[in-house]
Amino acid sequence: MQAPYLKQFPDENGFFGKFGGSFVPEPIAKAMEEINQAYNLIAQNSDFIAELRKIRKHFQGRPTPIYFAHNLTKEYGGAGIYLKREDLNHTGAHKLNHCMGEALLAKFMGKKKLIAETGAGQHGVALATAAAYFGLECEIHMGEMDIAKEHPNVVRMKILGAKVVSVSRGAKTLKEAVDSAFEAYLSDPKNTMYAIGSVVGPHPFPKMVRDFQAIVGIESKEQFLEMTGELPDIVCACVGGGSNAMGIFSGFIDDAIDLVGVEPLGRGSALGEHAASLSYGSEGVMHGFNSIMLKDSHGEPAPVYSVASGLDYPSVGPEHAYLHSIGRTKIAAISDKEAISAFFALSKKEGIIPAIESSHALAYALKIAPELKGKKILVNLSGRGDKDIDFVVEKYGYGE
Ligand SMILES: *Cc1c(COP(=O)(O)O)cnc(C)c1O
Repeated sequence: MQAPYLKQFPDENGFFGKFGGSFVPEPIAKAMEEINQAYNLIAQNSDFIAELRKIRKHFQGRPTPIYFAHNLTKEYGGAGIYLKREDLNHTGAHKLNHCMGEALLAKFMGKKKLIAETGAGQHGVALATAAAYFGLECEIHMGEMDIAKEHPNVVRMKILGAKVVSVSRGAKTLKEAVDSAFEAYLSDPKNTMYAIGSVVGPHPFPKMVRDFQAIVGIESKEQFLEMTGELPDIVCACVGGGSNAMGIFSGFIDDAIDLVGVEPLGRGSALGEHAASLSYGSEGVMHGFNSIMLKDSHGEPAPVYSVASGLDYPSVGPEHAYLHSIGRTKIAAISDKEAISAFFALSKKEGIIPAIESSHALAYALKIAPELKGKKILVNLSGRGDKDIDFVVEKYGYGE
């Protein structure tokens, strides 16, 4: 019998087929190898596993439920629509799943400080939360544009005791924040740990973050079977870097069901108007890993745009590039307009205000549901929309 997929990938050098790996200068390579070794040790350690289990149950509030969206299902008249409620995680999104793991690893390695970038601010809030829990210092780099757009999360990070560094170079969004955070990390790799916010970056981060997020898929499979007696026909999730998607996909990867990654189509398919890396990108190395990315005419990372700050990244986790290349996953793209319409649909019909990021995955489900009567779609509702309400109301009003 073939080994389960998750045991086979990535290989020991962090490759998923030709994607992934570690393309970084010497000092970072050394630091990454140190993290890799510590992670391999700790991942086998029963104290570590027990500690993480305890944290998930008593601090994060796991397991998060699966909810059958009965009103939306009825209204769209086709496939049953189910939601994995990651929005009910402490801090309001799936990101705490990997942040608590990364912070526990940092503690184990004797680090004093956590450094990271953040887009919508969700990773920053989750990491600041983890830092507070473990008594570590925390420094978050964030693009000036995102700071303006995601004010409540900036305030939350500061209340939690983190230092927020405003990044004003380039497009002033997520990509520049990653560069800035990496530089800060390199100035003191001995005492700090760089806690990447998704399944991106050099090895071992794509693997490690996936492993920490896999709890979403493990729970989902068990809960869905218990609830319906079957597996879902389709599992979908929004893809920025791809951590919430890899988390839920992990639980179903060896099963014969459709896995769909939903990318942000923004204002349209012209370069610069979207962040749909897998839909429109090509192979290239960025931020230390080989994947599919959006490039400008000089082969540099292209400017990207999405109404969802957490999705506007010009590349994607290498495992997504691999799974898509072998046909195991499908990719769809959802526009700003469709996402906002799904945001209001879930709010008004089910009483759940979703993050704009998560609204992309939901919009895809709503789009295909009418044609799929008798099927079941499971959507990973990666986060809640409290952080987005001021922005949405200012730009779109209160919906019909
Ligand atoms: C950050 C974020 C995302 C995108 O990150 P992935 O790594 O692609 O999962 C999606 N949804 C929410 C709510 C987020 O905060």
